[in-house]
Amino acid sequence: MTVFENLTKECAMSSNFETLAMLGGSPVSPAPLVPPNWPPVDETTADRLRDLYLSRQWSFHSPAERAFADAYAAHHDASHGIFMANGTVTLESALAAMKVGPGDEVIVPALTWMATAMAVHYVGATPVFVDVEPTTLCLDPAAAEAAVTPRTSAIIAVHLYGGMTDLEAIARVAKRHGLALIEDCAHMQGGKWAGRGVGSWGDVGSFSFQQSKTLSSGEGGICLTNDDRLAERIFRIKHIGYAADEQQGVPGVGPGVGLVCHNYRATAFQAVILHEQLHGIDNRLKRYNATRDIIEAELSNVPGFRVQSRGRQATLQGYYNLLMLADQEPLLDVPRPILLEALAAEGLRVGGTYGPVYRHALYNLPINAYRVAEGRCPVSEETAVDRVFGLSHPWLDVDAETARTIGRIFAKVALNAELLASHAVQKA
Ligand SMILES: *Cc1c(COP(=O)(O)O)cnc(C)c1O
Repeated sequence: MTVFENLTKECAMSSNFETLAMLGGSPVSPAPLVPPNWPPVDETTADRLRDLYLSRQWSFHSPAERAFADAYAAHHDASHGIFMANGTVTLESALAAMKVGPGDEVIVPALTWMATAMAVHYVGATPVFVDVEPTTLCLDPAAAEAAVTPRTSAIIAVHLYGGMTDLEAIARVAKRHGLALIEDCAHMQGGKWAGRGVGSWGDVGSFSFQQSKTLSSGEGGICLTNDDRLAERIFRIKHIGYAADEQQGVPGVGPGVGLVCHNYRATAFQAVILHEQLHGIDNRLKRYNATRDIIEAELSNVPGFRVQSRGRQATLQGYYNLLMLADQEPLLDVPRPILLEALAAEGLRVGGTYGPVYRHALYNLPINAYRVAEGRCPVSEETAVDRVFGLSHPWLDVDAETARTIGRIFAKVALNAELLASHAVQKA
């Protein structure tokens, strides 16, 4: 490309910033952008699945399951991995293993997927919803401490979208009040806090491998722990009471009286798929972070949008979604539906967050079955709903040019915020 062509291209690009596509200008991306396909597939995994099929060792804590669970635990600096059916029964089993039950309160963030709270209901305890920090959108440790009562027995900290809960602060709260700490890492596969894997900081770390998660086998989950006793109890809960070293059909010493056990097993097919993906997780997260950095750089001189804060001590940030937050006037005056329309017209369709659990259409618990700390959670109810624009994690696997285009779309909309705000007033 000659200098002249380069200049012309630059001019064409900057002229894009003049008129919004929504108002008749030309869009930043002529064709709507699309994310890469998810989940990834490859021939090596297909071959391994075929080998496993022919081996007939499809379940019952088979070698493939053990190999994956051990590798996943080691990758996250935990000594035990208990591979399970999904990332909800992992939470339920972690609570049950720590004897959390009826009469107990469990602190959970208001902003999370329902499963975090449902697991608390499944063991007969009461979720207490606490607000999240406006920067990371993860559980606010000070608000969590303020919500502790004599009935509180555990905290579930969720590392959400592209943020991590402040693990040191929340661990201090748990310790001060003698509470169990569970990390819900369904969004944070491969993430590291201060150089150490997430899921290894709390008493138990819970992960999900459902279709949309960063490591996926359609369904699946795992509990990580460094506590031998908890590992044994969780294993028995998932495997109808058997201990890990017992052969199916030959029970040795049974589970302790009162430990209700289930069939919460996953299959070896899932383990094979996940084990292959685990090899690439560090590089995947590095690519995700590089894309985030490019998008952030495009916005560095444009006030209006900011990216959800990483964990304060994140040394390798994981992502479920990349969240952009409108955080400055005049962008804050533009209603979300208009911003969605403006972004889409430039070629980018974005989504939002779950919103607070207790407002979710699928959360049908009677109001006396849970408690909302302070009566309301403004960040989870308002900021995280009205001001957030999310891209699912496969978007973070685009090339550098597409990443710049995404950044430019947000920048163009932010630069036109004043106009959009008056447009909104006219429409109203
Ligand atoms: C997906 C998810 C879960 C539950 O995982 P499933 O495997 O779908 O049961 C739990 N917590 C959070 C935050 C999640 O996003």
